Amino acid sequence: MRLDHLAIAVPDLDAALAFYRDGLGLTCARVEDVEREGVRIAFLPVGESEIELLQPTRQDTGIVKWLAKHGPGMHHVCLEVGDIQAAMARIQRAGGEMINPEPVRRPEGTLYAFVHPRSTGGVLIELYQRPPQP
Ligand code: ZN
Repeated sequence: MRLDHLAIAVPDLDAALAFYRDGLGLTCARVEDVEREGVRIAFLPVGESEIELLQPTRQDTGIVKWLAKHGPGMHHVCLEVGDIQAAMARIQRAGGEMINPEPVRRPEGTLYAFVHPRSTGGVLIELYQRPPQP
């Protein structure tokens, strides 16, 4: 298992980059607009992991509601697992509650599912199973 990324929800990506890139000194590897999810993401590598800054680009997304309720801050922690089905089964056997009952597939092949913060001590946890590297 590996810490894949920490996601931080921000209302203004450029203002956030002024701190994380220019102030803290991290490199912004790329910025992606994920139209389907209504979010713009800046990826900042930290060792084997990344910090993702998430800025909503539409008003009808979960991130907008989350920002309205919590304000800017850490949105979720993502752990990469080898076998997401096995990880989900183990969580459920231990009494944990999944938000996604089945893994969801991204266009590039990554499978993901979220664990409810009720089960995790208050932190939204995302599980990733990356596609095999060619
Ligand atoms: Zn994530």
